Amino acid sequence: MFTVGCHLSFSKGFMAMAKQTLELGGSGFQFFTANPRGYASKEWSAKDIEAYNAFAPANGIGTAIAHAPYVYNLCAAKDDIRQLSFDAMKSDLQKLEAVDNVVYNFHPGSHVGQGTEAGIALIADALNRMEAGAFKTPVLLEAMAGKGSEVGARFEELAAILEKVENNANLGVCLDTCHVFDGGYDIVGDLDGVLAAFDRIVGLDRLKAVHVNDSKNVLGSHKDRHEKLGEGNIGLAAFAAIVNHPALRELPFCLETPNELDGYAKEIAMLRGLRQ
Ligand code: FE
Ligand code: FE
Ligand code: ZN
Repeated sequence: MFTVGCHLSFSKGFMAMAKQTLELGGSGFQFFTANPRGYASKEWSAKDIEAYNAFAPANGIGTAIAHAPYVYNLCAAKDDIRQLSFDAMKSDLQKLEAVDNVVYNFHPGSHVGQGTEAGIALIADALNRMEAGAFKTPVLLEAMAGKGSEVGARFEELAAILEKVENNANLGVCLDTCHVFDGGYDIVGDLDGVLAAFDRIVGLDRLKAVHVNDSKNVLGSHKDRHEKLGEGNIGLAAFAAIVNHPALRELPFCLETPNELDGYAKEIAMLRGLRQ
């Protein structure tokens, strides 16, 4: 199954996102668990989730991606921000227990001057304390571009976090094509080499989702500015290789490109066209 879709607004719930996905020609989607810049998330409707759990598999919708708001930072320097992030993430995972076939993706965090080692330790400690590995929903660290003090731009950093979590069998990684390219991994010139490095350092069995974004910037720029597919420095030939690669092709692919819904529909069709 080719699971492909785009980031949608949660506002009307799971059934609305599932129907919108089908209208856009997709078979998967992503949503923020709360306002992207806030911690407070509303309760979800149990009835809506129950309907969605039946509707999605019956209508060709594969794995959905629940994305943590950007503001969460498990390795913030301030205790209160770390605690808010911890509580919000744990609450997200508790709410997701009712939802079938979904993964939870979060940005590992920014160490804000404390250093990468300290950031890694704080993130792993938080995941241990919330028992992130005990939830039904796989918890994914997103590979980052390395903007500012972001942790998780190097595969070694992702591996170090995973290693420090005791119950880590249900933890994984989401590769964002713009992030890894901006992070210095040449997925355009040497996709096989990048995936071999990922396998050696993290393990390909940990890879659970792909964010499909072109990049406004060049390899290794550490910028994180997403671009429409084919209009950036990654380009369509690389996306053709990505959606067909044997190590990736069964994963959910999700667009986070600067588009309105019609643009997303076009890009979903483009990715379907690239699929062999
Ligand atoms: Fe993200
Ligand atoms: Fe992303
Ligand atoms: Zn990004």
